[in-house]
Amino acid sequence: MIPITKPFLPPISEFEEYLSGIWTRGWLTNIGPLASKLEMDLKNYLGVKHLLYVTNGTVALQMAIKALDLSGEIITTPFSFVATTSSIVWEGCKPVFVDIDKETLNIDPTKIECAITPQTSAILATHVYGNPCNIEAIEVIAKKHNLKVIYDGAHAFGVSLNGKSIFEYGDITTCSLHATKLYHTVEGGLIITQNQDLYNKMASIRNFGISGFDSFQELGINGKNSEFHAAMGLANLKWINRIIDKRKTIIELYEKNLVGLDAKSQLWMEGVISNGAYFPIILDSENQLLKIKKALEDREIFTRRYFYPSLAKSLPYLDSVKMPVTEDIAQRILCLPIFFELTEEDIDMVCRIILQT
Ligand SMILES: *Cc1c(COP(=O)(O)O)cnc(C)c1O
Repeated sequence: MIPITKPFLPPISEFEEYLSGIWTRGWLTNIGPLASKLEMDLKNYLGVKHLLYVTNGTVALQMAIKALDLSGEIITTPFSFVATTSSIVWEGCKPVFVDIDKETLNIDPTKIECAITPQTSAILATHVYGNPCNIEAIEVIAKKHNLKVIYDGAHAFGVSLNGKSIFEYGDITTCSLHATKLYHTVEGGLIITQNQDLYNKMASIRNFGISGFDSFQELGINGKNSEFHAAMGLANLKWINRIIDKRKTIIELYEKNLVGLDAKSQLWMEGVISNGAYFPIILDSENQLLKIKKALEDREIFTRRYFYPSLAKSLPYLDSVKMPVTEDIAQRILCLPIFFELTEEDIDMVCRIILQT
């Protein structure tokens, strides 16, 4: 059996080293020494100024929307994981979908301005599969219309653009550290901003909006994460370069083996150092996709249709909107297995089955 992904686990002894410290201190959560160390180490590794370690990537998005005081409409992409849209609705705002670019698979900046109304307060875009959005174009539009920008960087851990972390763009960027992501802390999320005031505000929101022993300064939530999760994060961080290198090797092997396949790949932004988070292929038709998916499943090899169907027409709490490019891509895109333990023989087999179908 080959799953689509398999969470990375460090040697158990490396995790246990952190556990004994937790037992000694008896400090289990509330941003203890391990969570604080993880924040420091991640800031260094990613090269970002301010970073908060939070419960998960969804709460990170909700906290970002809350901290920016957004209301009314938020322009977003229909080609993402459901949490990108649901967090907008959860925060009492209205998602307004803008179709994606068919090459980059990210929100199409040339279509953003037509979607702006007097109610628009922000743009929330996803760096799909870790490929940076058209940051420059989005920034120009946001400045011109006085909009805030949030990037859902759930796939973009470790990605950099022109030598700078992709997390350092926009007003706020969030990341997910869920077990299915390339770098994980079992459950977990990150919030990154370059703005000191926003950072302070989100640190307070993360802790119920408490400002002192007997006082509250604002509406908050429990967005903290535990020492146990931070321990997994610290143990995994020692492996991160090997994890990313391995994934890039896997992608090279897939690309080499699949040259003969009539499929396209996502167009990546220039000047990017990628992270090997996903390996999607864009097939000719849904029919071809279903045949390949079935042929692989018959051999117990599992793929995923990230992201199918379009969020603009599948959520029971929203009116359905037609997004032609998203619908077309969503029907034809398939993510192949990619994880640390995947072997060259596995990849050869997956590719052989695909090519024979
Ligand atoms: C995984 C993911 C999320 C949600 O993160 P969680 O940590 O699972 O809450 C949000 N957006 C995107 C694009 C994701 O892939």
